[in-house]
Amino acid sequence: MPDLLNQDDHELQNYRLKIDELNDRLLQLLNERAQVAMQIARRKAVLGLPTFDPVRESCMLDSLAGKNQGPFPDETIKGLFKELFGATRNLMNVDRRRKMLFSRRHHQSNTVIEVNGVRFGTDSMVLIAGPCSVESEEQLDAVVSHLAKCGIKIVRGGSFKPRTSPYSFQGLEMDGVKMLRRVADRYGVAIITEVLEPALVSAVAEYADILQIGCRNMYNYPLLREVGRCSRPVVLKRSFGATLEELLLSAEYILSEGNTNVILCERGIRTFEPWTRNTFDISAIPVLQRETHLPIMADVSHAAGRRDIILPLALAVKAVGAHALMIEVHQDPANALSDSQQQLNLSEFDELLAALGKDFMNNGPEAGAEYEAVQ
Ligand code: PEP
Ligand code: MN
Repeated sequence: MPDLLNQDDHELQNYRLKIDELNDRLLQLLNERAQVAMQIARRKAVLGLPTFDPVRESCMLDSLAGKNQGPFPDETIKGLFKELFGATRNLMNVDRRRKMLFSRRHHQSNTVIEVNGVRFGTDSMVLIAGPCSVESEEQLDAVVSHLAKCGIKIVRGGSFKPRTSPYSFQGLEMDGVKMLRRVADRYGVAIITEVLEPALVSAVAEYADILQIGCRNMYNYPLLREVGRCSRPVVLKRSFGATLEELLLSAEYILSEGNTNVILCERGIRTFEPWTRNTFDISAIPVLQRETHLPIMADVSHAAGRRDIILPLALAVKAVGAHALMIEVHQDPANALSDSQQQLNLSEFDELLAALGKDFMNNGPEAGAEYEAVQ
């Protein structure tokens, strides 16, 4: 009964109509305000001024509180407007992100990068494998000959090693890079290796087919700019503490210097979980594929830090549609000079290959069509 009464109460009906009308006006005003704020942001960009102006925001809040006649208390008014300021900033970030070189918004089809006859960015996954560190020519020969026999076209091996402790094995540096090149040439495979500092980029690029920026250097802007000026493809690894937006902005440093051949690599992020070395962020892969046209790689070895779960993680990477997978393989993991817990031995690698299926080898120029933009 009370509901029926309410329906018939004219005064209540009028108030409801008034609220609807006010909602419509507020909606229009909110969007009008957002339009003006975006015009301000564009003008500031032209003038080279920062978009976010916390002093102006705080003045606006004080002024609004000064004019406020209730019934909302000043703090509530401030809270509501802070929410509005935040939403406006988000809108500007999305707007800015769409204009970035990494964005799918203006580059809808996947960037395809070809190295040694295999293509990153198509429907079929590229598999990269090799030891954590370059240790000796014999070690490389044992691993690379096996990988080449399996059909692997790109091998990995670190020779400038960014170790947590300065007393751990630091790598064979340029000697190791040259050694990796020699052995790779023996078996007709390409190489990817890490470069740690800007001054060494051109020297390493002379020998490497792909340069790797390790997770610890994702924020090393001079290094990013330097690899951006060279012509080699770059694998940029996500820092263990970086958001996906930060990863994309680091890629933008490389792209903005003219190097368009950037591959992004998810390699696990640091969480509270101690049973894996890092937490593998599988959702990063489809999220990145929506945001960017750049190829996406996954390094499950550094994510897991343990060899017993490499296989299921690799299958998950394939299932989620990553463009490339990187796996650490060593001929004698127990005696490896770095990351001995996570490297697969040669027969474990064979098992992984069998589980993945051989279609990853079929990613030459004739491989499946590039898929079009997700949005
Ligand atoms: C590596 O791939 O050799 C490496 C050191 O990985 P990350 O930078 O991801 O730790
Ligand atoms: Mn390693």
